[in-house]
Amino acid sequence: MRQEWHQLSYPGVAGLGPQTSRPTADSAEDQALGLDRWRDLPRDQMPPWPDPKVVAEVCQVLDNVPSVVAPYEVDQLRERLAQVCEGQAFLLQGGDCAETFVDNTESHLLANARTLLQMAVVLTYGASLPVVKVARVAGQYTKPRSSATDALGLPAYRGDMINSLETTPGARVADPQRMIRAYANSAAAMNMLRAYLSGGLADLHAVHDWNKGFVRDSPAGERYEAIAREIDRALAFIRACGMTDDEALRTVTLYCSHEALALEYDRALTRVSDSKAYGLSGHFLWIGERTRRIDGAHVDFLSRLVNPIGVKLGPSTSPEQAIELCEKLNPDNVPGRLTLVARMGNHRVRDALAPIVEKVTAAGAKVVWQCDPMHGNTHESSNGYKTRHFDRIVDEVLGYFEVHRGLGTHPGGLHVELTGEDVTECLGGAQGIEDLDLPGRYETACDPRLNTQQSLELAFLVAEMLRG
Ligand code: PEP
Ligand code: MN
Repeated sequence: MRQEWHQLSYPGVAGLGPQTSRPTADSAEDQALGLDRWRDLPRDQMPPWPDPKVVAEVCQVLDNVPSVVAPYEVDQLRERLAQVCEGQAFLLQGGDCAETFVDNTESHLLANARTLLQMAVVLTYGASLPVVKVARVAGQYTKPRSSATDALGLPAYRGDMINSLETTPGARVADPQRMIRAYANSAAAMNMLRAYLSGGLADLHAVHDWNKGFVRDSPAGERYEAIAREIDRALAFIRACGMTDDEALRTVTLYCSHEALALEYDRALTRVSDSKAYGLSGHFLWIGERTRRIDGAHVDFLSRLVNPIGVKLGPSTSPEQAIELCEKLNPDNVPGRLTLVARMGNHRVRDALAPIVEKVTAAGAKVVWQCDPMHGNTHESSNGYKTRHFDRIVDEVLGYFEVHRGLGTHPGGLHVELTGEDVTECLGGAQGIEDLDLPGRYETACDPRLNTQQSLELAFLVAEMLRG
């Protein structure tokens, strides 16, 4: 029996109406596309769902809800990423490490979007290229974990789609109903972002004014003043040319992305259109460092979608493994389809990334290269906080640029964990955050994020690097 999602018990969205039904969820077409092959394959980081029957009921609901994104948008993002692949655009991706239901508020979503847009303006200027903007939002509710238990000996928190951050054994039991809450929160987040982005939030002049505010107030502002002034002059030029009313100056498209970890969720939100499988839980889905085994479920499932996808590559990745992933995930070598996200750590990026870029390029694989300078640079502070130092983050980006300059390849993009709030989670930056400052506003549900100022500083520094 199909369960309508309003019939399931979960807080918050109980009053939403029934869905109209589709004939059968698993059509012959879905089968031909191999959309369920992953179920028989080795699967790392599996959510420890206690009851498969409830999972199946929840997935039946998700099979029939309106999707979070639309197929044409997915195609459009893949085409924009093809431009990044060809060296004609730059990719900026960022947001929370882990979204949470409690923080899925207007103010948090707007602050994050605004910070991403501010960074994008600076990078657009620095690169003299269009910047494709992708947020970690509207679905970033699952987390892979290195250990099955946390410091208290409780089952690890695996993201709000799976269990709760609360520190009781009951809260840590995986609950499939959370997939429906994650869906409802994602749909609401996308709805709000789309509305604000077409209604002035993205106005180039306003975004630049915020950046001028940052330059004025930052202790390191002097260093960034030159670029801000140049952007000012460029905007004055655009205005003088009478191009103030151009749609392109007032609106932007912000795509959404998340790690495809709980495959039941992403599978249930997959729709077949024109005989192609679209993962419509988000525009861009990626495979994490811990789930990228070539014969595994995650690689198999994402290989069957037409979405633009990413795969994280840590320092243990061999060039041969990277090539195997390209062959499996992008057999037709479609530009924009596959992004390789290097997260090597600043000490390893120069020696570990170079042979991968060299061999993948020599093999003729078309990929977008993206640098995640966060996940290889995590350490524990003297007072016990999981943190990252701004200097190591900047150094990894520098190393990434050096590698690409050396090989003549396009340093296509940046992938960061950030929030548009004044948190104290990462060390350093012009504010000089130190170990003892961390408890002040340490709010992340998982990894430490750059705060607003650190994010903008990074954007200005990367703009300098892009200008050479
Ligand atoms: C992440 O992006 O939050 C993450 C867990 O990354 P990785 O798979 O690279 O560790
Ligand atoms: Mn993270």
